Amino acid sequence: MAPGTVAVGEMAYLWEQRVRNNSYCGCGSKWTNCSFWKSILGDLPSPDFQKERSPFGAFFIDLVRKGCSSDNQHYNHFLKQIESIYLAIHDQTGCSVIIDSSKKPFFGLAVSRTQVSVTFVHLVRDSRGCAFSWKKAKARVELGKNAFMPFMPQFPAHRSALAWVWNNLQAEILRRRCQNIVLRYEDLVENPTSEVNKILNQVGLPSISPDQNGIFHIPTSHGIWGNPDRWSSRNAIKVTKDERWISELSKPDFIVSTLISAPLLKWYGYPLLP
Ligand SMILES: [Zn+2]
Repeated sequence: MAPGTVAVGEMAYLWEQRVRNNSYCGCGSKWTNCSFWKSILGDLPSPDFQKERSPFGAFFIDLVRKGCSSDNQHYNHFLKQIESIYLAIHDQTGCSVIIDSSKKPFFGLAVSRTQVSVTFVHLVRDSRGCAFSWKKAKARVELGKNAFMPFMPQFPAHRSALAWVWNNLQAEILRRRCQNIVLRYEDLVENPTSEVNKILNQVGLPSISPDQNGIFHIPTSHGIWGNPDRWSSRNAIKVTKDERWISELSKPDFIVSTLISAPLLKWYGYPLLP
């Protein structure tokens, strides 16, 4: 982790009651027992996430309109709440850069409407690789078998491809609203140090480097939610390439994913035939 940064995981999930009540913080505590988040949220005036559920209709209107903020009172209250949490994290950690890995462009847009200075990192992966990944069963081992979501959701290839297109279209709109960096997964895994340092330098932070084995050593984070892989790489991350989809994705899934996502695949520089 670069000095001056704090990672908070997928903060958009703070507004998902089921996630808050059932998930584990990156530090290993049940989220509701984590001292870091108790401290952050304890300073805020009655944060009531249940009543202030993220108003996605207003998000959408805000996403497509130009420049001006929404006149939806509920939405504006939501923006104030986001801003307060970001400021509390900054005040309590002293970190100038908060790494929020929420994967919802809608949420990124909301943050960009606050006084927080936002740099949006748009991470893109080949849609066929994503389709392969979303078909795999992945247990949320920390939750146990009886949890409300014991596994990561799995999707058929056509649904993954449609979601890939929808999310990237939203991201393209968000990119026009704030400072941004486009990063391809394939470039990241090929040269992680160089690609990570490009991002750090763009936000004014010094470069970092892994140890002699290519491992990045990071402090324990208080990340919300996230891929279960986070438990196997809590304090040491080695970025490795995963190209299993090229040989293991079925032909029908490859064809349907390619047909649905072809225009955007070309836009991001991916060959339609690997
Ligand atoms: Zn924690």
